[in-house]
Amino acid sequence: MNLRPNSDEARDVAYHLHGYTNARAHGDRGPIIVDRGEGIHVFDSNGKRYIEGMAGLWSVALGFDETRLMDAAFAQMEKLPFSHTFSHRTHGPAIDLAEKLISISPVPMSKVFFTNSGSEANDTIVKMIWYRSNALGLHDKKKIISRLGGYHGVTVAAASMTGLPTNHKSFDLPIDGFLHTTSPHYYREGRDAESETEFATRCADDLDAMIQAEGPDTIAAFIAEPVMGAGGVVVPPATYWEKIQAVLAKYDILLIADEVICAFGRTGNMFGSTTFGIKPDIITMSKQLTSSYFPFSAFMMNDRVYEPIADESNNIGVLGHGYTGGGHPVGAAVALENLKIIEERDLVANAAARGNELLAGLAHFEDHPLVGNVRGVGLIAALEVIAPDGRTDDFPVGQLGAKMSAIMLKNGLVSRNMGDALAFCPPLIINSAEVKKILHIVEKSLDELSVAVR
Ligand code: PLP
Repeated sequence: MNLRPNSDEARDVAYHLHGYTNARAHGDRGPIIVDRGEGIHVFDSNGKRYIEGMAGLWSVALGFDETRLMDAAFAQMEKLPFSHTFSHRTHGPAIDLAEKLISISPVPMSKVFFTNSGSEANDTIVKMIWYRSNALGLHDKKKIISRLGGYHGVTVAAASMTGLPTNHKSFDLPIDGFLHTTSPHYYREGRDAESETEFATRCADDLDAMIQAEGPDTIAAFIAEPVMGAGGVVVPPATYWEKIQAVLAKYDILLIADEVICAFGRTGNMFGSTTFGIKPDIITMSKQLTSSYFPFSAFMMNDRVYEPIADESNNIGVLGHGYTGGGHPVGAAVALENLKIIEERDLVANAAARGNELLAGLAHFEDHPLVGNVRGVGLIAALEVIAPDGRTDDFPVGQLGAKMSAIMLKNGLVSRNMGDALAFCPPLIINSAEVKKILHIVEKSLDELSVAVR
């Protein structure tokens, strides 16, 4: 591609290495420069408007121009732009936010620890679990089980828990002690004539067999997203969570709910754990906590997790862990205002109602010859495209998904293809007319895809 010398596009290619991007292809294609936002829309540098059907990265709950979040950030910047939380120091926004998160937790929790990203939160959780096992004298109880297709971030331990090949290949990951059990993807993994509940039983049996094979005393924790996001918006099959939790209880294994996508309304309840009857010991949160206006994350833990950690820090003299920016006063102030707005405007109920409209609308396309599956819960959904007339050899996995995503982008809708699954996860502020607009663009794009693959 010929980029105008010294243009923003050319300078981006010259100086910027992007995550989740083919670095060589970037030079050929050039970047899409996102310039400004308004409600559920973003505009590129040519002024073209898009519905942000992914809420950025599953995260901008309040849309792209919420002035109250800006005001909260500015007010906090003016008052105290930074202070840390080491060595018994704290500040008002961190205190208020910790109390708020504990008060809205779906299960009784005891303490909150602040971090800066979803990956960092999950990496920290692994360290805390190892620390806890040592505190309890359970020196072999260190392994963590996650799921194939699960996404928990990209730092060394978090990426080891992630169950996606591109996050491991050539990074020398996963490291030892991280295991991946069956993905709960009924559409892809379910066998012929196997019902959803039979598939859920098989998932739980596979987990049980893995624990037995490794030795139950070596498994410290199981981590999972209530609904898998990056793995393709995988809604768990009926009875999955009750069966999985029964296995974990049998072997005294901690349960971590990675709610980085699900928390704060996405599944139609404040937490995904509520939607699926999950009773976690630890909950990871980020993304919609600040609507991604500020990099921020946190996890909360119950007393079963906290008490041994507190004892060990007392034995050693200090908890030797913490981040400069953890609990940042500006991020905490933005998070508090963000949660206040979600509650005031009842955006959890809006997510449930608009989500029903979105899912019902997408379900209409299930008869389309290029649509294999539609799934979702609350305001997170996926539509999976399939090769026409069984021509799977002509279309390697991901090719049709990428094509559909490109057509939708051209038509003004940002989605993201994970393989052949197109994800929809718009801001929680979306209204019915905007849901209809999304559905209209999907329909038009499916028609264009049909022509393209003829
Ligand atoms: N956990 C889940 C469920 C996620 O979806 C993500 C990011 O998409 C992460 C963890 C990692 O978060 P971050 O990108 O902030 O490190």
